[in-house]
Amino acid sequence: MSTPSQEDYLEIIWQLIQEKGYARAADIAQRLGISRASVSRMVQKLHASGQVTYERYRGLNLTVQGSRRGRRLFERHQALAIFLEVIGFDDPAHIRTTVEGIEHFFGPDELCRIQRFLDFMDNEKTMYEAWTAWQATHPLGERCR
Ligand code: ZN
Repeated sequence: MSTPSQEDYLEIIWQLIQEKGYARAADIAQRLGISRASVSRMVQKLHASGQVTYERYRGLNLTVQGSRRGRRLFERHQALAIFLEVIGFDDPAHIRTTVEGIEHFFGPDELCRIQRFLDFMDNEKTMYEAWTAWQATHPLGERCR
């Protein structure tokens, strides 16, 4: 990942809190592949904008506003990852880096349409199976490599 944005931080902090109940600066730095110093700079910004709170000995927590935003960002990431899987990507590391590159450009409207498509694939099992079978019998052209 290049320089992580505020959205990347909130997404990771939200995820860490779901997993462990709290988010520590060291865990955030490790997940984002950046220094502790960069983490504390961004955490100060998130604190100043009312999205993050500090708790002595427990690390960071999210305010209601921060938590709501973090969950939306996490769900956006998940929806895009599933979308990439549906269109035939299968390497988790590649899917992750691709989502990290594109997710910031997907606003509520774009995401709503992706989600609508995924809902369709979820509800219309025979269509999804037909698409999967079609992909298997139609190899990607050279342009996809
Ligand atoms: Zn993400």
